[in-house]
Amino acid sequence: MLKPFKESDRGVGMVVVFLLVVLAAILLAFILKLSSRQAPTITVENQPKGLGQRSELLVTARDASHDLKSVSVEVVQNGQVIHQTQQLLSARTHHWWKFWSAAPASALTWNVAVGREVTPELKEGRATVRITALNDSWGRFFRGGKSETEIDLPVRFAPPQVEVMTTQHYINQGGCDMAVFKVSPGTTESGVQVGENFFPSFPMKESQPEVRLCLFAYAYNVDPSTVPHIVARDDAGNESQASFNYKVFPKKFHSDTFDLEKLSGGHFLENVVPPIMSQTPELRDQGSLIKNFLLINGPLRQEDAQKLVAFSQRTAPRFLWKGTFLRLPGKTEASFADYRTYMYGGQAVDHQTHLGFDLAGSEHMPVRAANDGVVVFAGFFGIYGNAVVIDHGCGIQTLYGHLSSIEIKEGDAVKNEQEIGRSGQTGLAGGDHLHFTILLDGIPVNPVEWWDPHWIHDRIMAKLQ
Ligand SMILES: [Zn+2]
Repeated sequence: MLKPFKESDRGVGMVVVFLLVVLAAILLAFILKLSSRQAPTITVENQPKGLGQRSELLVTARDASHDLKSVSVEVVQNGQVIHQTQQLLSARTHHWWKFWSAAPASALTWNVAVGREVTPELKEGRATVRITALNDSWGRFFRGGKSETEIDLPVRFAPPQVEVMTTQHYINQGGCDMAVFKVSPGTTESGVQVGENFFPSFPMKESQPEVRLCLFAYAYNVDPSTVPHIVARDDAGNESQASFNYKVFPKKFHSDTFDLEKLSGGHFLENVVPPIMSQTPELRDQGSLIKNFLLINGPLRQEDAQKLVAFSQRTAPRFLWKGTFLRLPGKTEASFADYRTYMYGGQAVDHQTHLGFDLAGSEHMPVRAANDGVVVFAGFFGIYGNAVVIDHGCGIQTLYGHLSSIEIKEGDAVKNEQEIGRSGQTGLAGGDHLHFTILLDGIPVNPVEWWDPHWIHDRIMAKLQ
């Protein structure tokens, strides 16, 4: 006889089935988690060609769906681990009990030293750098997904050789000179270091890359007693230094005082501040003309200087110029490295150094390229208003500021004396004039030298023979 069907039995059965399904799902997720083979990926950028004194690796570990747990780097030589360093990542963005979901992607970029400076036992021969990355997955029975990369490299410590070929170097403070030297094969970077400033060298001829020419400068604010030296580095992180004969001539620069309330018939601030503020939306209005002026004259001036350093990275590795640099006709209204004091309300409110020449001629006079080159910037440029920057190669660039119009564009090749625009008073200018700066690797240098054919001959051309 059939039992009478009860509603409650059916309900219990449904619940049991449901619980079994949930349990099976949890078990399946658990098994999948435990057997996960998902591991981080490891990439090494700028991989060195060898290990030396100061070798470094730029290691990036990434995991698309787990938190990284650790990244370790070992140096192994003759089967022995002679150096080990590790980065532990403690920040968990994802909790273990959230087994149904994946963690967001995580990544670590680490510039890790592996040369002899950190591994004194390292010997010449060969060595292996082993990079291991772990994630916090349950994979490999709770030990985490693991990946490993090994790089086998030659080990050598002999630093590059430098042979200085130029005999005497005379440098005016704020000015330039050029050294010529020869480096041994395998040298990847060489140049002249003057205090904080490094001036890279360039091949003298494409066919002889080991013979290097290097323009260098003593910036207007570098202590003239600073000792310069040539630095050469190879592809294994070895570095050598070489000295050379030199003499620095200290220079006294002019000082000048500007009364901001009297300039331009008392209209200077109202003439220059609002246009610059409107063209530079990242500047926050400080609430008054003088406060905005101080923001433009200080922080914006600094930012413009940084941009000039960035433009210098795009210099051509050979001279694009020849002869002497053109000095535009016009009266000199301000010269290189004038020290300026700005007065307002009877008080000194700011000091800045004027790092170029102000040349005033007729209004909207034609502005011409100082030498052959390629335009690396043309447009509105902070305190310089409408401006043009031309690259002449090997770190030399020229800046033309306060233009009323620009007739060329970025990327154009220009010829010496080619008209590139017209003078004006855009940017931080009290009247129509050209602001002209010569830069070496983004550092303003005294243009007077580059306008002088004797200087060009003695300091540069004679050394290229
Ligand atoms: Zn100027």
